[in-house]
Amino acid sequence: ENGEEADGENTIVAGTAPGFPPFEMVEDGELVGFDIDLLEAVVDETEYELAEWEQLEFDSLIPALDNGNIDVIAAAMTISEERQEQIAFSDPYYSSDQSILVQTGGDFQPESLDDFEGQTVGAQSGTTGETVVRDDLIEAGIIDEGDYTSFDNYVLAVEDLESGLIDAVVLDEPVAETFEAERDVEVAFVYETGEEYGFGIRQEDEDLQAALSDGVAAVEESSEYEEITSTWFGE
Ligand code: GLN
Repeated sequence: ENGEEADGENTIVAGTAPGFPPFEMVEDGELVGFDIDLLEAVVDETEYELAEWEQLEFDSLIPALDNGNIDVIAAAMTISEERQEQIAFSDPYYSSDQSILVQTGGDFQPESLDDFEGQTVGAQSGTTGETVVRDDLIEAGIIDEGDYTSFDNYVLAVEDLESGLIDAVVLDEPVAETFEAERDVEVAFVYETGEEYGFGIRQEDEDLQAALSDGVAAVEESSEYEEITSTWFGE
């Protein structure tokens, strides 16, 4: 059964936030990544058509979904209770924890969040990494509010880490590992949060939600999920 969008067609617009490798990034001017391939494979299993991809900052994705500029978010977005007050999610398609990134061989080599006293930290605005900083570092009284820098994009945070402007970055583990492989930064430790990513949709788009969840199951049952995983994670 077809879902019905406001324009009466089954074409949907996807939104993502590049700069989050290997889930979404721009390479040679082209938007690529795990989420791009996965959503395209998932939509192929449905009666919807993916018309185009919009590239936005991460913290603009939910507002863009709300105001109808996009119909689905594919941005390694963690399914959280807080977000579920605003939007709905497909069934989960990937699991992740947070990681702490530091300069490779740098002075700051923390083993737990308790080691952060007196250090400066960065994360990307609107992310679960930022939630860890706010709840488990600032609220917990380990660092001061002023020791935290919120970035529009994790690439900018990692650049400031490389140049020593901040001491650590908190971000999703698979992305931290990608930055570790490509840049002068390393994972100090993994902070277990047990997150799961889902595709975000408007709460009223129940047909689309069901179609995407069925699509995720179909792609996972076929060889496609493994192919996409091996393309982007080399596993
Ligand atoms: N998974 C994290 C979140 O949902 C980070 C996502 C991202 O930065 N694209 O907040």
